[in-house]
Amino acid sequence: MRLITLPGETDLDAFRQACRDLAGAGVAPEQVVWQTSRSDHSDLFAANELEAPSAIKALSAGAATSNATRTAQLSAPSAFVSLCETVILHRDPDRFALLYRLLWRMQRDARLRSDPLDADWLLLQQMAQAVRRDQHKMKAFVRFRRIDGPVDDPVGDPVGDPVVDPLTARHFDVGGDNDTPMAEPLHVAWFEPEHHIVAATAPFFMRRFAQMRWAILTPRLCVRWQGTQLTFGPGVSRDQAPPADAGETLWLTYYRNIFNPARLKMKMMQKEMPKRYWKNLPEAMLIDELSRQAPERTSAMLEQHASEPIKRRPGTVARASPLAGLDQLPNNAFEMREATNRCRACPIGELATQSVVGEGPMPSRLMFVGEQPGDQEDLRGSPFVGPAGQLFNCAMKELGWAREHVFVTNAVKHFKYELRGKRRIHKTPAQSEAAVCLDWLEREIVLVQPEAIVALGATAARSLLGETLAILSERGRWRQRSDGRPVLITLHPSALLRLEPEERADAYARWLEDLRLAAEFAPTSSHNGPD
Ligand code: URA
Repeated sequence: MRLITLPGETDLDAFRQACRDLAGAGVAPEQVVWQTSRSDHSDLFAANELEAPSAIKALSAGAATSNATRTAQLSAPSAFVSLCETVILHRDPDRFALLYRLLWRMQRDARLRSDPLDADWLLLQQMAQAVRRDQHKMKAFVRFRRIDGPVDDPVGDPVGDPVVDPLTARHFDVGGDNDTPMAEPLHVAWFEPEHHIVAATAPFFMRRFAQMRWAILTPRLCVRWQGTQLTFGPGVSRDQAPPADAGETLWLTYYRNIFNPARLKMKMMQKEMPKRYWKNLPEAMLIDELSRQAPERTSAMLEQHASEPIKRRPGTVARASPLAGLDQLPNNAFEMREATNRCRACPIGELATQSVVGEGPMPSRLMFVGEQPGDQEDLRGSPFVGPAGQLFNCAMKELGWAREHVFVTNAVKHFKYELRGKRRIHKTPAQSEAAVCLDWLEREIVLVQPEAIVALGATAARSLLGETLAILSERGRWRQRSDGRPVLITLHPSALLRLEPEERADAYARWLEDLRLAAEFAPTSSHNGPD
């Protein structure tokens, strides 16, 4: 047997290296025992073990043969690589064994590279989903409390502290001025995640609360933001979290006022806001009281006179361009992301985790436009990385085109969904919402200067051409935009995913034929970059 001791719970680099070493030495999954050497926090402060070339240690006598240091080049589909990134955050100690087993099996049976029904794939996908759900809950249920005056900062003084880049788990010392504390008051939140998600979710809070000085305390790992970089420290216990503050009292008053008893759906509420989170949510202490009063308050509301609705004539509301209030137009992908993240010109942005703008070189000869980010795109902040994106990637590969050298974006920049239980179900954006978002898409077109555009589905076609097209009869045809650019119409990859299994192969082949019409604009996989 081999005992593999990884230096950290979420150390993907070390896990990868261990997999390469094990596979190089021909060690089968059932001969491996995985463990982590330290808890989340202690691995932040010890670099020595990470510097070792391999995380492998032999357990049984004689197991450390010269084979143990031979490293294998493993091949895995990109879906597996991104699955690893998420699953490694799961708290189940068996996750390493499971990932290595599937990797091992894929090297021997290429069909497993995309077998949606394989038991290991399914299990790993469920684990990834649990991690994503936990991240979603953290984003939704972290409540900061403002601390005025001196605090016993649980993350520690930054100056001279070892700080870790959570993604690579590499350590470095913070020079004196790197993390100069802001003059802002500190905001502190307490959260109890189920999985090892704190480091991976912290950048979300960094982006959202960039101007605030904050710390999130959890039992295994704490994170602090002082305005320049995230700093991590050991976990703390709940009693180190701060008590309620004045801001919280105001929030409770607001919550009490906006609570609509007629709309109370206790089951739905508990599904979305499971009871285990209630103890850390100030508003949760009102739920019992407000739900008890709900029937009485509903009857009182019914007895009141109906108020007169304000009459609005359709079409008379002029919608402001989302670009109108900007000091200057975004000039690159970073500025696009910043600006769209703040955009509330339609209601979708409020519910989304973040905006998802196009990715790819600026300029690019060829641009692909989808509808809107889906669940996974919303969580990861990149277009076409979920199931539709995987199909898109397959097509790119089959056509011999380099995805990284085309520009991929969406007509709408935020994820529109409705909640069904714990699931976020995609909702097609309304025409008015796509119309508002068109200014962002047009800005991307200006920045990318594509010679040709592929419209994936009806929403993209309508946004790009300004008219509603019947995709099934128009597919495989070029149309011209008012700026003269040619637009190739074809199906959205999700439409293929919705087909019956027996229809998929033909539909996919036809879709490739459509896409191939744009070949003259497409950079091939051997291409080194934009011309
Ligand atoms: N569907 C889209 O249209 N775009 C994405 O980015 C993902 C799914």
